[in-house]
Amino acid sequence: MKIHYLDNSATSPLCDEAKNAIKYCIENHFGNPSSMHLLGAEALSRLDSAREAVATALGCLPKEVYFTSCGTEANNTAIFGAAYARRRDGNHLVTTKIEHPSVLKAFERLEKEGFEVTYISPDSEGNVSTESIASAVRKDTVLVSIMAVNNETGAILPVSSVKPALRAVGSSAYVHSDCVQAFGKIPVRPELLGTDLISVSGHKIHAPKGIGALYVSKNVRILPLLVGGGQEKGLRSGTESTLLIDAFAAAVKALPDVKRSLEEISKLQSHLVSGLSALDTVVINSPKDALPYIVNFSAEKVRSEIMMHHLEASGCYVSSGSACAKGGVSHVLAAQGISRQRADSAIRVSLSRFTTEEDIDALIKGVELGVNLLKKRK
Ligand code: PLP
Repeated sequence: MKIHYLDNSATSPLCDEAKNAIKYCIENHFGNPSSMHLLGAEALSRLDSAREAVATALGCLPKEVYFTSCGTEANNTAIFGAAYARRRDGNHLVTTKIEHPSVLKAFERLEKEGFEVTYISPDSEGNVSTESIASAVRKDTVLVSIMAVNNETGAILPVSSVKPALRAVGSSAYVHSDCVQAFGKIPVRPELLGTDLISVSGHKIHAPKGIGALYVSKNVRILPLLVGGGQEKGLRSGTESTLLIDAFAAAVKALPDVKRSLEEISKLQSHLVSGLSALDTVVINSPKDALPYIVNFSAEKVRSEIMMHHLEASGCYVSSGSACAKGGVSHVLAAQGISRQRADSAIRVSLSRFTTEEDIDALIKGVELGVNLLKKRK
């Protein structure tokens, strides 16, 4: 049966460039970049080139890129690292209610340790307003963490308005953005976003799982989570996974032009949304101006897992809510004020540059069949 993979926000298939980089590295390189001999020097030179590739994509300096094991580690390092480094300057932190668990759980732990956290709610469309961020910021705020694109609904958050809001109250708080779902899809550059810290992850851009990166502005100091051999300038000890880093850099270099890809994906998304909206029991949960790579919908009264497995039987792979929610209630849809029943029916469809119109048609047909069949069974 033909596979229609539409779960790219959970993870994405490897691109050929990443596959080739892995193969080449396995066969030709195994040196440790910290070794003082020739093999070490070769590994270091490859590591430097990879760092440069990621820095070029982010529009930052290579020395501002730190490799991590994943997006989760990048988020944890940014949040704990910034909060602990700034503890003497203030006790207040700001984030949103719709962040990924790798951000929310870090803040929950910081609350237990005595920090005060303000969680900003989205509106009923799923959007977070610039005003709500501005009004949450105080003189003692030391960190604001706001994702660029929500992983469940595709909502685009107003990250670039945070720095001006901080300036308005004379705050020198650091700004972190979880850009895991945005990187490669919209421009993710510190100078555009006004951010001091940015997290990205390999496996959402057709690189392998187990590799991510954290941008840390050269003007910012954060404390490490992992201590040891002092790799990554002491911010992330542990021998660098040169294999995964090489593959990550290859996938980054292979990223197509963001604007052109957005135009292509927007056409597929419009086709998908109009096909789904034509089905009488389907409602779209994503905001109207969401990133077109993600469409979240509910087929009323058909529970997510049931629809998901029905779609799987016709070769369509999607998520129930988000892969991270693992069947639990979506905190994102709940924050948006969506009813429990509707949230229980939520399906996330996520596209990539490899998605075709045939995939979208198969999904629409699958949902239509599912709605009719499952309605009859009730
Ligand atoms: N942040 C967001 C928005 C995500 O969607 C994810 C993964 O789904 C992560 C962070 C975690 O990234 P990783 O799986 O690389 O740890």
